[in-house]
Amino acid sequence: MKDINRKIIERESYDVIVVGGGIAGVAAAVAAARGGAETLLIEKSVNLGGLATNGLISWYEPLCDGQGTQMVKGIAEELIKLCAKYSFDNIPKHWGGSGHNTPRNDRYSTFFSPTVFSAALDEFVTANGVKLRFDTLTTYPVMNGNLCEGVIAESCSGTEYFGAKVVIDATGDASVMYRAGMPTVEGKNYMTYVAHWCNMDGAKKLCDDADFSAFRQWMGIGSDMFGNGHPEGMKRISGTNADDITEYMLTGKACLLKKIKNMDKDSFDIMTLPFMPQLRTIRRLQGATDFNAVDGETYDDAIGNCGDFRPNGAGKHYQIPFGALYNEDFPNILAAGRVISAPQGDGWEIARVIPNCALTGEAAGKAAALYALSGYSFENIRSEHMDKIFV
Ligand SMILES: Cc1cc2nc3c(=O)[nH]c(=O)nc-3n(C[C@H](O)[C@H](O)[C@H](O)COP(=O)(O)OP(=O)(O)OC[C@H]3O[C@@H](n4cnc5c(N)ncnc54)[C@H](O)[C@@H]3O)c2cc1C
Repeated sequence: MKDINRKIIERESYDVIVVGGGIAGVAAAVAAARGGAETLLIEKSVNLGGLATNGLISWYEPLCDGQGTQMVKGIAEELIKLCAKYSFDNIPKHWGGSGHNTPRNDRYSTFFSPTVFSAALDEFVTANGVKLRFDTLTTYPVMNGNLCEGVIAESCSGTEYFGAKVVIDATGDASVMYRAGMPTVEGKNYMTYVAHWCNMDGAKKLCDDADFSAFRQWMGIGSDMFGNGHPEGMKRISGTNADDITEYMLTGKACLLKKIKNMDKDSFDIMTLPFMPQLRTIRRLQGATDFNAVDGETYDDAIGNCGDFRPNGAGKHYQIPFGALYNEDFPNILAAGRVISAPQGDGWEIARVIPNCALTGEAAGKAAALYALSGYSFENIRSEHMDKIFV
């Protein structure tokens, strides 16, 4: 093999580095910056929002409990307002939205435009003083024992090293934590492929009723979240190797083509394909505490409250413990979003939705700033400073 003598360029150091600019990473970076930390957010694509935007999810699950009480607050609420700020929404009027085209279940949730929301996230992040780096893949954390000293990243600028006092893994696949040697667990996914399309019926609703959510529609291929529709004979994958992801994406697009081949080609368009695999649960941390989503369970180290988005979830109340965001053996790496310590089943199901990713992101960002600027360990924060973390 040819010996490639590649130079690693040493860049500036930060108090906090957040890897991954999905909803969790955005919330984490903004919370850290608001806490006074010099914060770098590294995103491998060129748009913020992750699955919510690049993955075309475009439905913000509820912040309320389905019985009139708001559960999730903080940046999660700022973000639902932001996704409704420059484009259509259907947040009910009594939750402060447009009330246009009554939403599912009348809860504090909404459809949103993934493209407009993504552009608005750039504004949100930069206005809050976060240094943003697009088109940059974080490859490896640099470890000194169990302490993370920074990250190596790859981009058209070359191979770079960024030092950090704290690193937050908001990658959606826990790749930073996994490569740091932290204990992680892989999930298993059914094949789901969702594109956005428009057709004549939607166009008519748009003209008659200014209904953009009827115009920009999901074309769902494959399975729902329970496995109904999973292609026969296809294995379930976690999404931690590129061959599996390639097969997953090829199968999704082949199923999409099969579907549209039977349609009148002059009656619709596919507006956009997803720009990342729509895998619900890839890999997550095994942390100090598991979040199991037990109705009514409270924690001394709670970071905040949340409800249950599922049809039978109205009235359920959960708290997420700070212990689900770190592992005791690794002093300066935090998890945010769908990679927190929440076992497959109810825990991961609740932790992974957009508002709760914002919640864990915000708590991780606040804790990271405290660690970097005040020197409090995560255990110390957990036992004495949860009032500064609670959202
Ligand atoms: C099919 C499906 C349907 C869903 N439906 C809903 C729904 O209706 N409502 C809802 O609220 N939630 C829904 N969800 C869940 C929700 O969308 C996601 O779990 C949530 O958006 C995840 O946010 P995150 O920030 O944790 O991770 P992600 O959105 O995965 O963001 C991770 C980011 O990190 C970046 N990244 C990854 N690795 C690196 C690296 N090494 N270096 C730099 N950048 C990196 C990625 O490009 C990405 O931008 C759904 C999920 C799926 C798959």
